[in-house]
Amino acid sequence: KEGDYDTELLVIGAGPGGYTAAFRAADLGMDVTLVERYDSLGGVCLNVGCIPSKALLHTAAVIRETEHMASHGVTFSKPEIDREKLLGFKQSVVQKLTGGLGQMAKQRKVNRKTGEAKFIDAHTVTIDGETLTFKQCIIAAGSQVFKLPGMPWEDDRLMDSTDALEMQDIPKSMLIIGGGIIGLEMATVYSALGTEITIVEMMDQIIPGADKDLVKPLMQHIKKQYKEIKLKSKVTACVANKTGLEVEFDGAEKVTYDRVLVAVGRIPNGKLLDAEKAGVEVTDRGFIEVDKQMRTNVDHIFAIGDIVGQPMLAHKATHEAKVAAEVAHGQKVYFDALVIPSVAYTDPEVAWVGLTELEAKEQDLAYEIGKFPWAASGRAIGNDRTEGFTKLLFDPETNRILGAGIVGTNAGELISELCLAIEMGCEAADIGLTIHPHPTLAESVAMSAEAYEGTITDLY
Ligand code: FAD
Repeated sequence: KEGDYDTELLVIGAGPGGYTAAFRAADLGMDVTLVERYDSLGGVCLNVGCIPSKALLHTAAVIRETEHMASHGVTFSKPEIDREKLLGFKQSVVQKLTGGLGQMAKQRKVNRKTGEAKFIDAHTVTIDGETLTFKQCIIAAGSQVFKLPGMPWEDDRLMDSTDALEMQDIPKSMLIIGGGIIGLEMATVYSALGTEITIVEMMDQIIPGADKDLVKPLMQHIKKQYKEIKLKSKVTACVANKTGLEVEFDGAEKVTYDRVLVAVGRIPNGKLLDAEKAGVEVTDRGFIEVDKQMRTNVDHIFAIGDIVGQPMLAHKATHEAKVAAEVAHGQKVYFDALVIPSVAYTDPEVAWVGLTELEAKEQDLAYEIGKFPWAASGRAIGNDRTEGFTKLLFDPETNRILGAGIVGTNAGELISELCLAIEMGCEAADIGLTIHPHPTLAESVAMSAEAYEGTITDLY
């Protein structure tokens, strides 16, 4: 009990946003209730998103690496896949992390409620029939898969990302609708396990939003592995029959696949909460708008994570969560991150942060590029993975870094340095003059900065 209310702070949803907010608020001494409709904490990210996908991607990477070794004179026998054991490993990873969250909630004395919360008014929710009053609230109800209409969803050969992670079988052929990050990551997994992959994407490139040149090495790599990548193409019909799912492209060509994965995006859960009963405005698309302190239009109700808008990424949700919890506690803080990095954990990985060339051109912003091809990196050559490059965008007036893109193995790990560089307002010389360990892929960051300064040094 907190004064006239059952709880001082109610957090709805226990994904990366919700559990981070609940833990931060509890650490600050607040009385916190965390409500989640599922037994398991962790939301999409831990249960059916970031974590299980990366567990499977690790297996895929090892398989591909062993294949690659043949050209180095080391041959492994064809991998035998025990699907159930692989899924068991994936599930053990999820359980380790979600179980850990349960213990952390207990240690912090966060009150946990299991059930679906819906607003009754601006200080009351029901949780599966039970009424709970709150002084302040943080909505962290996340998002869900967008189910493309007109598809035979009653047929379990048609899958969304959650189904794909359940991996009922390793099909002979699979069509993936949507060439975005989630679709491409699942393609990476299934392809390594032996499935023949086709990707169809409406736009003229995979990972629309990332710079075209950044995506090119990935495109070239997967072109050799997958059956087909159809760009500027649309699925116009899909019919379930005995032999598979018959898909029609652009009103013409028809092809039958064993399975079809729909990965065309996610929609926020804003319309599922009766938020209007609390006076909280929800957009037509189901997003909840917030200010820099993560407050909704109702002062004591905050919202964070996927439900407040793009990019729908776990690391954005956790940062917003800390801000919301601290503001609810009475601190004067704001969400003021300059940049939020994006990573596709494909093979090779694609990572970018800050300004892209695409955006610079759209916004007519002046920029100069420093680029380092991995074909000149001793480490990449040693790894026999030279298809990558590192690209930095600089402000030609101040020499400050504006954005960065990396494609290549481990790009997702390498991008962090550039997130820090942008947040710190680094100039090209700060990056170029920082001694990076040799021989590493990370050197490519310093070399790109040096390339911009026109002082490229021969390091190998
Ligand atoms: P969510 O994780 O969606 O959590 C919301 C929680 O609220 C859910 O547990 C839900 O059950 C609960 N809830 C909703 N409504 C109610 C209610 N009324 N009452 C009670 N509980 C409710 N992001 C990355 O940054 N990196 C990645 O590598 C990555 N990979 C991904 C891979 C896949 C396959 C998918 C699908 C997503 C991936 N994401 C990744 C995105 C990431 O999962 C989300 O951005 C993140 O989970 C958002 O966190 P959130 O807290 O806003 O919401």
